[in-house]
This record gives sequence, structure tokens and C-alpha cells, in this order.
Amino acid sequence: MVSCKCEKRYVGETKLKVSTRIQQHEKTIRDEKWDISGVSFHAKTCKEEFDWVSTLKIEDRKFDRKVREALEIQFRATSPRNEHGLNQDDGQYVTTAFWKPMLSYLRENSLHL
Ligand SMILES: [Zn+2]
Repeated sequence: MVSCKCEKRYVGETKLKVSTRIQQHEKTIRDEKWDISGVSFHAKTCKEEFDWVSTLKIEDRKFDRKVREALEIQFRATSPRNEHGLNQDDGQYVTTAFWKPMLSYLRENSLHL
């Protein structure tokens, strides 16, 4: 997860080392490729700095990473509909709203996935 000092957050997944993925984000910002991700798009307009990284969970399999990413986006309220969200969507592997009440309960009670 990437957090900005303006309190907006972004959840992403990668099979790369996190440091490598962060370097990619930094490069897209240096190259002014604003539409590559929610992070670079935000960097175009926000003057604050990013607190670059926290690893939420290590998942080796791509399917598991994608599901986890979608659940983390919903749990941490980082979708475009959320006030503090920098993600450009809700994630691609969980399209049902089935989990939203549970994720909302966990978030409101400061519990973790
Ligand atoms: Zn910001």
C-alpha cells in the first residue's frame, strides 16, 4: 500500500519486489506518465509526498494476489468512490458486493483481514 501525506491511499499488487515496483511508480512520475496508475495520477495534482510502501500480505500465486488486492481495496476504502481512495477501480477479481458488509464492519472496528 502507498500512502500520501494528504491521507489518500493506494492498494496494488505485484509479483515484483516491492522496492522494484516503487521504483517503477517513481519513474512514471518523473516521466510524467500520469495515466499509468492511481499513484502517478495523484502525483500530478498533489504537492504532498508519498510514504512509499507497506507490504500488506505476501501471496505467491497471481490469482490469490488479485483477489487479495480487490478485498484490500474494498477493506481500506481506496476505490475511486472513497474520499481517501487513489485506486482507479475496485480491483478486478472480486466483483460481488457480498463481502462489503463484513469489510465495512472490520474497518469500522479497526480489525484486520
Ligand atoms: Zn496526496
